[in-house]
Amino acid sequence: MLDDMADTTPAWRSTALAQTIGEIEAQLDLAWARLLGELNVAPGSADETALGWLVVDNPAEHDWRIVDAALDRLTCAQCRSTLTRGPATCQRCTYHHEVRFVAREVDRPNVPAGNEHAIRVSFAVARNRIRYSPRARVGYELILPVLVAGALPTTKEAQAAKALINKLTPEECDQVATFADVERLALGANRERR
Ligand SMILES: [Zn+2]
Repeated sequence: MLDDMADTTPAWRSTALAQTIGEIEAQLDLAWARLLGELNVAPGSADETALGWLVVDNPAEHDWRIVDAALDRLTCAQCRSTLTRGPATCQRCTYHHEVRFVAREVDRPNVPAGNEHAIRVSFAVARNRIRYSPRARVGYELILPVLVAGALPTTKEAQAAKALINKLTPEECDQVATFADVERLALGANRERR
């Protein structure tokens, strides 16, 4: 069953999230194509695969989009899924999922410091949903389009959102499409009687 869940494209919780994920995936492809061009490596070649391993084994030396793009192009030797996308029990996928976070994150101009870090974490969580509980990932998935638009919630705002999310059941966490949905469910009239 875990194998069946791996590598499937999830139905995103909202059009905004689907569009944002698509945009970032296009940026990954562009960053990777640019790197291949700079190094004169042919797409689809054995050299491309070798370069991919070099990148994911040294993530701190590369921008996170390059690292995530490399991961998307490699196959896990242990579970045969796309690297990091296998079941949460696959040690090799788990290792590469964890070390990806040391990749470089450079904020875009005119965004609050830390915006890029928040984008890369939210994107990784959204695309590796089986590694996280519904309650752990819902906040990341809801905030991702907002982050890409250039905002970054304050700690206080994030804590307030988290407090509301904690009132939802796991099923509700998977159903909400917006923070307004979270608020409506968390503050709903019937909530106290549950
Ligand atoms: Zn694996």
